[in-house]
This record gives sequence, C-alpha cells and structure tokens, in this order.
Amino acid sequence: MAKKKTLTTTHNHLRHIDQTCLWHPFTQMQEYARTEPLIIERGKGSYLYDHEGRRYIDGVSSLWVLVHGHGTPAIDRAMISQIRRLSHSTLLGLTHEPAIRLAEKLVAITPSGLTKVFYSDNGSTAVEIGLKIAFQYWQQVSATTRKKKRFLSLTNAYHGDTLGAVSVGGIDLFHRIYRPLLFRAYKAPSPYCYRCAFKLSYPGCGMACLERFAEILKKHHHELAACIMEPLVQGAAGMIVFPRGYLREARALCARYDVLFIADEVAVGFGRTGRMFACEHERVRPDLMAVAKGITGGTLPLAATLATDRIYEAFLGKPEECKTFYHGHTYTGNPIACAAALANLELFERTAVLEHLQPKIGLLKKRLEHFWNLAHVGDIRQQGFMVGIELVAHKKTKARYPLAAQMGHRVILAARARGVIIRPLGDVIVLMPPLSISVDELSTLLDVVYDSIKTVTER
Ligand SMILES: *Cc1c(COP(=O)(O)O)cnc(C)c1O
Repeated sequence: MAKKKTLTTTHNHLRHIDQTCLWHPFTQMQEYARTEPLIIERGKGSYLYDHEGRRYIDGVSSLWVLVHGHGTPAIDRAMISQIRRLSHSTLLGLTHEPAIRLAEKLVAITPSGLTKVFYSDNGSTAVEIGLKIAFQYWQQVSATTRKKKRFLSLTNAYHGDTLGAVSVGGIDLFHRIYRPLLFRAYKAPSPYCYRCAFKLSYPGCGMACLERFAEILKKHHHELAACIMEPLVQGAAGMIVFPRGYLREARALCARYDVLFIADEVAVGFGRTGRMFACEHERVRPDLMAVAKGITGGTLPLAATLATDRIYEAFLGKPEECKTFYHGHTYTGNPIACAAALANLELFERTAVLEHLQPKIGLLKKRLEHFWNLAHVGDIRQQGFMVGIELVAHKKTKARYPLAAQMGHRVILAARARGVIIRPLGDVIVLMPPLSISVDELSTLLDVVYDSIKTVTER
C-alpha cells in the first residue's frame, strides 16, 4: 500500500516537472501539455514498461535504433566493462582501442572502397561531415574543380535537423521556415510512386524522375560537389521505397559526371532493409557514407562518416598547407559507445540476425496484404523491416486528411491504449520493430495496428 502511494506521488511529481521544465523534440507542447505523459521506466526485449508496470510493444524501436531489443546482456556487459576502464578520452590527437577496433570493423562490413572512418555522435552530424568533406575535397584536389560547391538532393529527403542537413532536406513541413538560413541545393523529384510528380506509374514511366535527376547533373555537374540521398528508402518522408534500379542508376550517373555520391544510411543501415546496408541491394559503392541510429544497437549515441582513399588523400599535406579537415565534436568516438557498437556487430554475426530476419520480413509482407482491405489505407510500403502505411481521406482520389484531423496521431493513441507504442509521420503509420522481435510479438503488433486504424478511420 505504502509503496503504491509513493509510486503515485513520484509519478505525479515527475509529470508536473515534465510539463513545466521539459521541451520535447518534434512535439507541439500545447497539445502535449493536455495529454497524460507516458513515463517509460524500463525496457526488455521488444517491450517498454511504464511506471505502473504496463507493457507496450516498442513498434518503432525507440525511434528506429533497436536491433536486438532493449537490455541486450552482451551489449550491456561490453559497456560496463568499458566504463570500468575508460569512459571518455578524446580522439583529437589521441586514440583508444574501442575506436580503433570499431573503425576496422566498419571498414570491413561497409561497401568496398570505403576505407576511412570519421566519428561523430548523431546522424545529423554524420551528414554535415559528409557534406563538408565533399565540399572541401573539390577545393583541395585540384585548381580546376573549385567551382564544385553545390549539392544535389531529393525532394522529400530527410538528412537531420542541423542547418547543413536541413539545406539538403526536402520535407516542407519541417524545413520551410528555416529557408532564409539555408544554402541552396538542387532538388530532383523524389521517386515517390504513389504520388508521382509526373502522374505516371512504374515501370511504364521509364523512371521519369531519374531522367530529371540526370538533366540536373548534365546541366550543373561543373558546380556540383556531391549528391546526397537516403539509399532505397526515404524514411522520415513516410517510408518512400524507391523503384528497383533507381538507386543504382542514380549512383552511376553521379560517377559519370564526377559528382560525389553520399549515401545517408543513418536510418536504413544495420539490417533495417534486410541487408546490412541498403546500398548492398543494388551493389552500390558510395564515395561517402553516413551511419548512426542502429550502430550501437540502440544503446548510446554514436555516428560515423566513411570515406574512400581518393577523398582522404586530398586532405593530406603539411600543416601549413591547411588541408586538414577542421571538424570534430567533443565526444567524437566515445569509447563506451564504440564498445557498445562492437558488441552490437558481434551479435549480428554470432546470432545470425540477418538470416533470422528473412522469414519475419516475409511474414510481415504477408500480414500487411490484409491491410489493403481497410477503407482508408491508400498505400502500403515495405522494405525489409521498414513499413509505412499511408492513410488517406479518399482512396480513389488519394486525398489527404486535413492536418487538423491528426489522423496519424489518433491511430497511435488508439494503439497505445492497446499496448503498442508507435509514432506516425503525418498520416503515415510507421512500423519499425526491433530486428529481434519474435513472430508472436510481430503478430500482436500487426493485430493492434490493424484494429487501431480500423477503429479510428472507419468509425
Ligand atoms: C534520423 C536520420 C538522420 C538524423 O539523425 P540524428 O541522429 O537524429 O541526428 C539523418 N538521416 C536520416 C536518413 C535519418 O533517418
């Protein structure tokens, strides 16, 4: 009895402080303040638990980061053992074993040609680093390439929230307001087949979006430093899955026009798409690659930008030549985070994560077919363990719901009441379960999401 009372008191107190002191990311706080906050207390496997012990399936892997679930003993042990030795030491001029071993591992598992690892601590910085390296490369590699200062990206792209990443972003809702602060980037149309910019359909379209991409390259390659894209899936735009061949062709075009290709594997990397990296699906070898989210299995912030020898060598010279890459964050390559990443990657191999994932991807695909019956499901997109279910007001016209209807949000609240945590992207319901989720848990997740969509949209 006494324990229960303390719990309630603590909860009310925490709730009060949460509402008075905490500003949540990507959250309209006026709305948030009106709802009961969900205070998560612990996590185990595919589940999160709130302060009252209520259990929820973590259907979006705590924002797309979980690989083996919450509380993976092997990763926890690696972190604890690293903490006992060294919690932090800088990589500016010094080095340490976890950063060294992880760099070797990353070079070994990423597409061939990527041989150098530059650490940072989140996806946005990994992208910024890619952009800055690409820019500086052309300034230094030869006197005739210094006009290559601009970037090409896709509409609907999401590359993070810092200003460089926003400059190459293409999601109006998030990015429009900051436009006066941004550098201008060329934008090619997103290969968003469901809402094709050319009103065509694949494959009859002959990938008209790629033709537009090629035109921009042809016209502007002399001023383009690099092209950046999310390989295979534009995540934050609502899981927009590329038509087959788009990625490979886009990469080949960049090579033909000598424009560097930056693969932003922050969301798709580390098994999400069914392969270790999305680039592997189309045998793409980027010049630069950004990784983050799944790198530590969902335990600590860590990111890396990988580069080829060709790029790296343009930064070599005597100190007075000032070719150094003048960039580095204080906690870059933190040893505990690197130890967690190493343990994560060891588990990938030891427990054959990708092998066990394939039948679950098949099951997910099969179960999702049933969702087409729902009156307001306009499109269902899946690539591996990334799913977007796009809700529409009218199936025939593909008309969107008004923003004020908050359909996506209402669906996730319905799911929450049924023991599932998911987070929508507008009116796209996202499913990103931990790669380790069991068949039964996956099945429950799908049942709950189906019911939630039906209840909210067909009422
Ligand atoms: C999440 C994400 C980022 C940004 O990563 P943060 O760690 O949130 O800064 C960049 N690119 C893509 C594709 C992402 O999904």
